[in-house]
Amino acid sequence: MNGAQPSSASPQHGLTDRLARWARGFSGKSEEDSVEEDEQRPRSGTALNREINRRKQLYSDIGDFLFAHDLDLTPINFSVALDYLTGANIGVEKAIKAVMMERGKITNGWIETIAAEQRADEVTPESLASMLDKVEENLTQFTGLMHESRNSAKDYGAALQEQAKDLGEGRDNEPVLARLVGLTRSMVEKTRQVESQLRENQKQTQALKSSLENARRAAEHDHLTGLPNRRAFESVLREEMEQAQGNGETLSVAFCDIDHFKHINDTHGHDTGDRVLKFVAGLLAKASNDRCHVARHGGEEFVMLFRGKTAAEACEAVDSVREDLANRSLVNRTNGERMDRVSFSAGVANVLAYDDPRGALKAADRALYLAKEHGRNRVYLAAETD
Ligand code: GH3
Ligand code: MG
Ligand code: MG
Repeated sequence: MNGAQPSSASPQHGLTDRLARWARGFSGKSEEDSVEEDEQRPRSGTALNREINRRKQLYSDIGDFLFAHDLDLTPINFSVALDYLTGANIGVEKAIKAVMMERGKITNGWIETIAAEQRADEVTPESLASMLDKVEENLTQFTGLMHESRNSAKDYGAALQEQAKDLGEGRDNEPVLARLVGLTRSMVEKTRQVESQLRENQKQTQALKSSLENARRAAEHDHLTGLPNRRAFESVLREEMEQAQGNGETLSVAFCDIDHFKHINDTHGHDTGDRVLKFVAGLLAKASNDRCHVARHGGEEFVMLFRGKTAAEACEAVDSVREDLANRSLVNRTNGERMDRVSFSAGVANVLAYDDPRGALKAADRALYLAKEHGRNRVYLAAETD
C-alpha cells in the first residue's frame, strides 16, 4: 500500500516515528540532519555531556508531568508531554495551558480527544488529495487491465479461429494441435497474470477505502463519547433544514447542557467527569434513530435534531431523557462513592421558524440559558418571537 496511506495521515506511524526520533536524538531532527551536523562541527566532551544532561532532565520532566496529571504511560500521553515540554507543537502547548488554567489538571480522556482532533486536522487536505490520487491511479490501472484482458481474449479468439480453419481443411493436424495447445497455455497464463493484478488492485482499493473511512470518522466523531462532533452535526443540520423547508416536514433542535458539571469534576475528578460525559452521551444516543441525530457540541454540551417532531414534541422527548438521568443514582467507580444527582438542562427550538440553522441554535441556546436561570434540570421551549 505504498503511497496509499501517507505518513501524515497515519497517526500511529507518525507517533512511533517521532518517538523513535526522540529516542535517537531527541532534537526532533532526522538522523541525517544530526550526522551532517556532527561532521561539520565535532562535538566536544562538554557539549555531549550537556546534551546527555538535557535529555536526562527531559526524561525526568516528562515523568513528573505524567505523574502530576495521573496519566497512564501510553505512547500518546508520552508524545503529548514531549510536545508540551519541548514546545514542539504550539497547538498542543496552547490547549494544555488552557486546560491547566481552567481546571488545573489534564486527563487520559482529554489527551485522547485532542490527539483525535489533531488526527482529524492531519487528514486535510494534502493527505486526502494524495489518497484520491492513488484511487485515481488504481482506477486507471484497473481500466488498463480490463482493456488488456479483453484484447488478449480477442487475440486468442482470432488465433483459435485461424487454427480451427486449418484443422477443418484436413491438413497435417499435429503442428496445428501443438500450436493450439501453446496458444491455450499462453492464454491461461495471461488470464492468471491479469487475475492476480486485479486481486492486488482490489486489495489496494479496499485498504484505501478503509483509510478514507477512518479519516472521515476521525474528522466527524468525538473521540471520548463516540458521538458525531459539532462539525458533523452542523452539516446534518444544514441538510435537514433544506430538506424540511422543501417538503414541509417539522424539524426541531435541542441544546442540552449538563448541570454543574464543573462541580462534578471538582468533586470526583476529571476521569469520573469523563465517564459521566460518556454516560449522558449514551442515554441521549439511546433516544436517537434515523429521525433523531445526537452530537457532542463541545465540553458538556450536546445537541439533538428531531425530524418530524414539533418543538413541543421534541421537548417531551428530551424531557423523558432528562427525567431518566435525574432519577438515576450514579456511583463514582474510582472510590465507590455515590454521586449527587446528575442532571442536564435543555432548550428546544423550532428550526423552521428561523432563517438559518445558526438562528435556530441560538434560540435553543437562549431557552437553555433560561432553563438554567430558573433552577436547572428542566427543558424549555424557545419562544418563536425570539
Ligand atoms: P452550568 O450548570 O451552568 O452549566 O455549570 P457547569 O459547571 O456545567 O458549566 P461550566 O461552563 O462552568 O463548566 C463546564 C465544565 O466542563 C468546565 C470544563 O472543565 C468541563 N469540561 C469540558 N470538557 C470536558 C471534558 O471533556 N472532560 C471533563 N472531565 N470535563 C470537561
Ligand atoms: Mg456549558
Ligand atoms: Mg454545564
